[in-house]
Amino acid sequence: MSSKEAAIWARVSGADQQSLPSQVAEVREWLESLGWTVPPERIFMVDWTSRDILRCPQMQQLLTLMRDGKVGAIGSLHLGRFAARPGQVAQILDVFRQTGVELLCKQTPMPKGLMGEVMGLVLTIGKALQVDRANEGAAKGLHDRPKLHRLPVSFRRPYGYVWEQNPLRLVPNENWDTANYLFREGLRGTPSRAISRELKKRGIRSPMGREEWGIQTIMYIFKNPLYGGRFHALRCECTEPVRRKGNTYGKSSERYLPSGDWVYLPEVEVVDPPLSWDEWQRLQQRLQQNRLLAQRNARRDYLLRGLAICDVHKRRFQGSPRNEWWQYVCPVGKGCSRSLNGPSTEERAKWVVSTLLNDPDIVNRLRSDGEVESSIQKDMKSLESKRQRSINSLVELEHRHIDNRADEVHRIDAEVYARLKRQYSTQCQWASERIEELSQQLANMEHQAQAVASLQVMRDQLLDRLSEFSTTDWRKLFTDLGMTVHVEEDGNAICHFSLPYRQVVEKTADIVSSTP
Ligand SMILES: [Zn+2]
Repeated sequence: MSSKEAAIWARVSGADQQSLPSQVAEVREWLESLGWTVPPERIFMVDWTSRDILRCPQMQQLLTLMRDGKVGAIGSLHLGRFAARPGQVAQILDVFRQTGVELLCKQTPMPKGLMGEVMGLVLTIGKALQVDRANEGAAKGLHDRPKLHRLPVSFRRPYGYVWEQNPLRLVPNENWDTANYLFREGLRGTPSRAISRELKKRGIRSPMGREEWGIQTIMYIFKNPLYGGRFHALRCECTEPVRRKGNTYGKSSERYLPSGDWVYLPEVEVVDPPLSWDEWQRLQQRLQQNRLLAQRNARRDYLLRGLAICDVHKRRFQGSPRNEWWQYVCPVGKGCSRSLNGPSTEERAKWVVSTLLNDPDIVNRLRSDGEVESSIQKDMKSLESKRQRSINSLVELEHRHIDNRADEVHRIDAEVYARLKRQYSTQCQWASERIEELSQQLANMEHQAQAVASLQVMRDQLLDRLSEFSTTDWRKLFTDLGMTVHVEEDGNAICHFSLPYRQVVEKTADIVSSTP
């Protein structure tokens, strides 16, 4: 095998691509600088737009060269030059793997060797692989890589930057100024919609070459920590798309991994990041707040929805959006406090509930009283026997009434019979009603005991986590506790709590409303 002989694969598949001779010139110079020689007959220049690339005669020649051991490497400008149907990409890469021929792509540098990396390429190019075992292996290879070899997973080019090798670093390209503009505006709090409008006005095209910058595109860039100077690997993983666009298959969507799973690679230098690390983190906080606010406004998902009650009008306050915040407004709104500051009322309610849960006596006070329960059960037993006695008396009375054989002395007088019957019936009915009442009371105590038990569990589990609670979590906690916020005429707001079935605790706290 002429191990230092390489072939060049140049291909155009669309109008916008670099011309074939210029691709070849660039790749050839690069290969030669790496010590390879490129004989003229090993240069393939192909104009092939179909993704059925295995039908392309030159591709078949290239694969034959590789199988025959005639070349040690194939050089190309970019991995995209091998773009094909996913199954075919896998077949081509499999030939590389079997023959040990190196795949050298100037603009998508990949460390040589390992299968995991080759399969990493498959994902990078295709992002549309059929789901099979190879894919699982690829995902595993991808995920082992940053930890084992401390190398970025894919050399996808971040907007405004290009990769440079030896040492591995990201250096600004012609889009860096736009990236810098994006981040400066983002940090200043300019809404993404306004940034998008301004970019369109300036005639700056999106990374995908579109006239309009999508909000998602801007967000995607904002979320990348490399713009704060820290390159992270493993920020996404490929997943099945929720909704497929056209004739695609395999894992072609990406899902963000939680930031805890990202792998920071400090050895990858980012030249001139638009933001400092502190600034980048501040931007993330701002974006998260905006997202919460937007969700709240879009879905009318107010934390105290239906829980704040105007004591004057006996009506429920309604959430109402303002520019940067929100209010709770009485639907009547005359002669009462009319509106509450949304954020501060919510914070105050959260504070009251945290305090409630933090107070160990509260839970003890809620615990159902064992003595009360056993005395109720005693009462019920005596009522049961009273009722039984009444029933027995009734039966006996009837018996005497209809027994014709009984002598005159024992025969019961009609008037006495009616009176006794009324008396026994009333006694029986009263005992029955009382028993019903007491068993209801016992059932309530049972429910209450369960509610207290669940409150206890909730308290133990949730106390530490309250600080991380989402609006949904808080809302669930409020409703579990049966909390309502009663707003008095002067704007004082008082929290009432009632565990299910029975009011067991009432703790109040003043919330002074602030009317803007
Ligand atoms: Zn009102």
